Amino acid sequence: MLQFDYQRASDAASAIRLAGDAKGARYLGGGTNLVDLMRENIERPRALVDVSNLSSGIEIQPDGGLMIGAAVKNTALAEHRAVRENYPMLARAILAGASAQIRNMATVGGNLLQRTRCLYFYDEAAACNKRAPGSGCDAVKGFNRMHAILGASSACVATHPSDMCVALVALDAIVHLEGPDGTRSLPLTEFHRLPGDRPDIETVLKPAELITAIELPAASQWPKSAYRKVRDRASYAFALVSVGAALKMEFGGIVDARLALGGVAHKPWRAVRAERALRGQPATVATFEAAAEAELAAATPLKDNAFKIELAKRTIVATLSELAEISA
Ligand code: SF4
Repeated sequence: MLQFDYQRASDAASAIRLAGDAKGARYLGGGTNLVDLMRENIERPRALVDVSNLSSGIEIQPDGGLMIGAAVKNTALAEHRAVRENYPMLARAILAGASAQIRNMATVGGNLLQRTRCLYFYDEAAACNKRAPGSGCDAVKGFNRMHAILGASSACVATHPSDMCVALVALDAIVHLEGPDGTRSLPLTEFHRLPGDRPDIETVLKPAELITAIELPAASQWPKSAYRKVRDRASYAFALVSVGAALKMEFGGIVDARLALGGVAHKPWRAVRAERALRGQPATVATFEAAAEAELAAATPLKDNAFKIELAKRTIVATLSELAEISA
């Protein structure tokens, strides 16, 4: 039986102290991913520091942005009036993920840290560099229909499973962290890592560092936004491909754009090449197709997932067309 210590933190400082004191400690939010992994014997923390009662507020900032506490539940965020009215891409992304019961338990901070659903990662008999560094990757030549087409390495071709993070990356979210060395903040685009030769290291978090909040810039910058998820069944399925998009338009032209993809890479994928191809162009299907081509030009398919390249292009075009209110 897996034995571990459990302690509930009263504030961020005590959480960081407890995690720093206990070697092999993990922070516990809603537990919807970590506890599953412990049951499967994939994660074996020696101590859990419960942070599910910390920083659970959503504050509207003076400039109209949002400061979202890391312990806010996914459901609470999706149902918050400011999110529904001003960040529809985010609300739609959250509601596209998991089940209502899981969304009621899962926290925003935990969502950032959820681990891949690669089947080989969950199979102790399989070679997996993420679970056992240096053991190899059975997915590279195995069944890899759900795996990455962008930014992968020969060491790992897993995808990041989050829907929420795709919207947050598209919306220029900032992650606020607190650790033994103090506080810092960084763009969410810089928080998750590509696999390289160390797929077991998934974020830039330092030992005992705690996610305290996610900040969103004022939504007034992005009056039009949407999230579209393509999956094998209508609910409780991870994305084959998903697209979070926002457009700023004037007189039928695109002034600026934000685009992110899910289900295609080891991290939520900010589509900077597509964004560049959209800026200053007329809002037409031809423009959207050119942007999709630009982003997917670097895609490298595996044995079973070449279909994702065309699927990603079509989903980009459909999502942007929805925002521009034209027929794709
Ligand atoms: Fe493990 Fe990554 Fe390979 Fe999956 S793709 S088996 S998570 S190393």
